[in-house]
Amino acid sequence: MINFLDEAQELFSYTRNLRRDLHMHPELGFMEVRTAEIVAKELGKLGMKVRTGIGQTGVVGLLEGKAPGPVILLRFDMDALPVQELTGVEYASINPGVMHACGHDGHVAIGLTVAQLLYKHKDEFSGTVKLIFQPAEEGLGGAERMIADGVLQDPKPDVALGLHVWNEKPVGWWGIVPGPIMAAADKFTVRIIGKGGHGAVPNLTNDPILAASQVINLLQSIVSRNISPLNSAVVTVASIRGGDAFNVIPAEVELKGTIRTFEPAIRDLVTRRFTQIVEDTARALNCSAQIDLNMITPAVINHPDVTSRVQKVASSLLKGDDLDYKTITLGSEDMAFLFQRVPGCYFFIGSANKDLQLDAPHHSANFNFDESILPKAAGLMAASAIEFLVD
Ligand SMILES: [Zn+2]
Ligand SMILES: [Zn+2]
Repeated sequence: MINFLDEAQELFSYTRNLRRDLHMHPELGFMEVRTAEIVAKELGKLGMKVRTGIGQTGVVGLLEGKAPGPVILLRFDMDALPVQELTGVEYASINPGVMHACGHDGHVAIGLTVAQLLYKHKDEFSGTVKLIFQPAEEGLGGAERMIADGVLQDPKPDVALGLHVWNEKPVGWWGIVPGPIMAAADKFTVRIIGKGGHGAVPNLTNDPILAASQVINLLQSIVSRNISPLNSAVVTVASIRGGDAFNVIPAEVELKGTIRTFEPAIRDLVTRRFTQIVEDTARALNCSAQIDLNMITPAVINHPDVTSRVQKVASSLLKGDDLDYKTITLGSEDMAFLFQRVPGCYFFIGSANKDLQLDAPHHSANFNFDESILPKAAGLMAASAIEFLVD
């Protein structure tokens, strides 16, 4: 059996240099031009067939084995976030207001390392590895754009694998869980429309601030009183805007937020109650409501057979590590769109190190992770790919 951990460890300085370079030059979704160039260049050096401009800035590399066989898709996301970095590391972002605050710099570096690892052994397997470097994972629809541009054809993948560094867990932890592992995400904007007026004469207004505050309170009853305590859902109001002056009741208040669920039946229940509460509460307070509610990603559902094979690979490769086959999250991921079409497994790599103060949450201005996980992550991805290819 190939020792991918040792081989990945030998490539550690390559992986870390790449990751730090990408970290220093982060690019927002659909603007990953420099990143895509680096990816295409590195894959090209290995003699791979490389396609660029898939889903605007996405890159696809095909690594052919010694003979035709199964097609294994490995997906890595590339985009950064609109965050001003505060880590103070020497490789901190030089792009103002843009930061790799989710770890996708690490994913690209892992992906290119996996390409190196599998290239070295391409005469030892039959089949094709399709490495895809995806733009705009952070809520902008990069996966759907790549699918629309044909990333799941020519050749059509039989299995898809993806990963995420995970600062909610320490180095040495791995989350490889079958079934629904990340939630369906809905995004909502609610406008509560009343009648504005003088703050000292509220009786002549229909106060949308009061209506909005009641709506926010009552929305909390959905999870606590409509959903079974044995199921999961989230209703979060994340933004409230209305009014400018201390003595003016505004005509309108806008609320924005997100709903997270795992199962379609629970989502139906939550969105039905949501609509009822918003509309009826607004009406009870002489206001009206306009609701804009859209699902931005379905739940990420790991295929049980694919996942158990990745678990098997992990348990032989990562001896002594903490392999978790249960923990799931109400975060969301557009890998869900790929998994609606291809059976797959998406796994998490514990990446926090409290002693080194590398445990800030994802999307925070202080986010950074322990780079020692990079070779292990690449090793598991490469070994998992080989698991689905044939000798
Ligand atoms: Zn993120
Ligand atoms: Zn992410």
